[in-house]
Amino acid sequence: MSTADAIDVVVVGAGPAGLAAAIAFARKGIATALVTGPTRAADHRTTALMEGSVRVLDEIGVWERLAPHTTPLRDLRIVDATRRLVRAPEVLFRAREIGLEAFGYNIENDALRRELQAVADATEGLEIVRASAIGHEADAERIHVALDDGRTLSARLCVAADGRQSRMRQAAGIRVRTRAYPQVALTFTVRHTRPHEEISTEFHTESGPFTLVPLPGERSSIVCVVNERDAVRLIGLEGEALARELERRAFSLLGAFQVDEGRGAFPLASEVAEQLVAPRLALMAEAAHVMPPIGAQGLNLGLRDVSALLESVETATARGGDPGEESVLEGYESHRRRDIDSRMAAVDLLNRSLLSDLVPMQGLRGLGLYMMQKVGPFRRGLMRLGAGLNAA
Ligand SMILES: Cc1cc2nc3c(=O)[nH]c(=O)nc-3n(C[C@H](O)[C@H](O)[C@H](O)COP(=O)(O)OP(=O)(O)OC[C@H]3O[C@@H](n4cnc5c(N)ncnc54)[C@H](O)[C@@H]3O)c2cc1C
Repeated sequence: MSTADAIDVVVVGAGPAGLAAAIAFARKGIATALVTGPTRAADHRTTALMEGSVRVLDEIGVWERLAPHTTPLRDLRIVDATRRLVRAPEVLFRAREIGLEAFGYNIENDALRRELQAVADATEGLEIVRASAIGHEADAERIHVALDDGRTLSARLCVAADGRQSRMRQAAGIRVRTRAYPQVALTFTVRHTRPHEEISTEFHTESGPFTLVPLPGERSSIVCVVNERDAVRLIGLEGEALARELERRAFSLLGAFQVDEGRGAFPLASEVAEQLVAPRLALMAEAAHVMPPIGAQGLNLGLRDVSALLESVETATARGGDPGEESVLEGYESHRRRDIDSRMAAVDLLNRSLLSDLVPMQGLRGLGLYMMQKVGPFRRGLMRLGAGLNAA
């Protein structure tokens, strides 16, 4: 492969974040290569893309392609299903209260990746490289990314979107702060006898949230956060027994369940990279931050990384600068750090407030939910934040 001086940006990792980033850079006329990594197995999860992400995906020209595969999340309901002394009132958030048709749109992960890959394949100026990256080395002018087939790609900027175990991050010697939780997120897809009416419902339980997220027709995806002992028991259930157990946890809100093929189990943890950048390298999405699947934050945060890095690169290139120069990387780090840290802290606090038996903690959680229900400006500010928009 003759790549000397031909590529400006190399994106490593063809997950949803890497695909979106590569498409975005190439569509701005920046010569880009996407290193895909290994072929992925089927992923039965779904992703709720909030309004802020829809805007990013629209800006890079892929939303039109994704929209037919999505289901709107018009309302979000939170139900306190704990049996604790302090119980909070049920809260219903309506998207129309903040002038939106929906807070976001739920899509099956396989459809999300398939459609993004199809757009990437058809994008001019985007070279798809079917290999894995094994390391990198930066000099004053370029970064050289070594591939497992013996080739090397040279670019001015390397975007590491190679997921949670990021080899690019490790090669840069960037450490990760990790926090493990005594919980597991189990994922299922169910068919149900009552309509979901495009409402996503989150039951707060003592072991974590149990969330129903609408899919097309009378189907929903479930993310069920439980302690490790319950996880083992639930994973062992099949057919009718599993359907009845999930139905019980959903308080039969959507009627009787039938569970589809395909389920997942994800131990809960949060991880955040100590730096988002190194010379000519920017980390994004799960290569930079992993958070528990509570409140649909993960990829939404990752897509905001894409948008911020693109903006930083465009600002530099517009004045004749270089996409991997220090000011681009510094701008990206300072732009993203606060959002990432504050979302991680909010998800951590919510999760801990559910697990904690301490009455003051329960009181605080109850007060928070009470204020969400009763105090309009507070509720609307939170709704905008949840939708990935500025609170103002
Ligand atoms: C149960 C659950 C539910 C979730 N629900 C939501 C939700 O509703 N909303 C939301 O926003 N987020 C959600 N998330 C989070 C979301 O799934 C992740 O944030 C997102 O998938 C991360 O995307 P990514 O592109 O960073 O990483 P990945 O999807 O892991 O992609 C990384 C890619 O890099 C490739 N790769 C790895 N190593 C190399 C290498 N050396 N060279 C080249 N390529 C390589 C891999 O093959 C892979 O394709 C959820 C997570 C879980 C666990």
